[in-house]
Amino acid sequence: MKAKKPCISIKSLAKKFPESAQRLELFDSILKTAYSVGFKHQDKLSPETVRSLLQAGTPLLDTASFDENAFAGVFSRLLKQFHKNNPEEFSTVIPANVPQGLFTAHLDADADKMTDFSEALSMSTATLVSCCQQAARPQLDAFAQINSEANTGLWSESCCPFCGALPAMALVESSGARRLFCPNCLSDYRFSRHYCPACGHGGLNVLQMDAWPGLLIESCPECRLYLKTWSSGDGEPPCPFPWFDIVTYAVDEAAELQGLKRMSLSVMGV
Ligand SMILES: [Zn+2]
Ligand SMILES: [Zn+2]
Repeated sequence: MKAKKPCISIKSLAKKFPESAQRLELFDSILKTAYSVGFKHQDKLSPETVRSLLQAGTPLLDTASFDENAFAGVFSRLLKQFHKNNPEEFSTVIPANVPQGLFTAHLDADADKMTDFSEALSMSTATLVSCCQQAARPQLDAFAQINSEANTGLWSESCCPFCGALPAMALVESSGARRLFCPNCLSDYRFSRHYCPACGHGGLNVLQMDAWPGLLIESCPECRLYLKTWSSGDGEPPCPFPWFDIVTYAVDEAAELQGLKRMSLSVMGV
């Protein structure tokens, strides 16, 4: 099976956000490569399994089995693509074989194993994690879509109910409810408004962005991590997630200058 690639007119987005045109095109070419590879059929989880996992606060991913060969296929294609497009910056030697266990180590966010793999592949851990994020996405995305009914009020954790990642962005609806967006499987889910998803601290610092009316940097005084948050009181966001994460890249640069760090990787893995 294949996952449906997230679609939008990149041409019109690039016209609207010319400073992000290159990044938008790169992201689209990554998605095209990643979503072109088929993988083994995934079964929908039973309602009982979903209910018991969500009630226990366990992301559904823990019971899923993914196609490691398909992941390896996407991973190699992406490395070749990055190398071809930008041989100077992306000088990593393309491995003949993607090492066994890389997909699982990535899904488990096993830092020690990822460091070992990055040494074996002669690439930085950050680059490796980023490539794995892009290569794993189609299967995680499909898994979240197949089990989308699981996105119910049963879940009260701050990480993604499907894949367990911390959010990349947030949106506060006009009702005051907050939705968080996952950079890995691209799904969204509800979480309480005033708590830090990373450490649970109550009470966030809010910074308004002059260049982006409606977009807030909500940062945690405890762990210093932040989320770019669209406040719907100002209408619909100028473009949907995941592309919104890309076109607001300059906001991340501004936040970093203030000594703040993103809560998770961006959708582009940086
Ligand atoms: Zn997710
Ligand atoms: Zn925090």
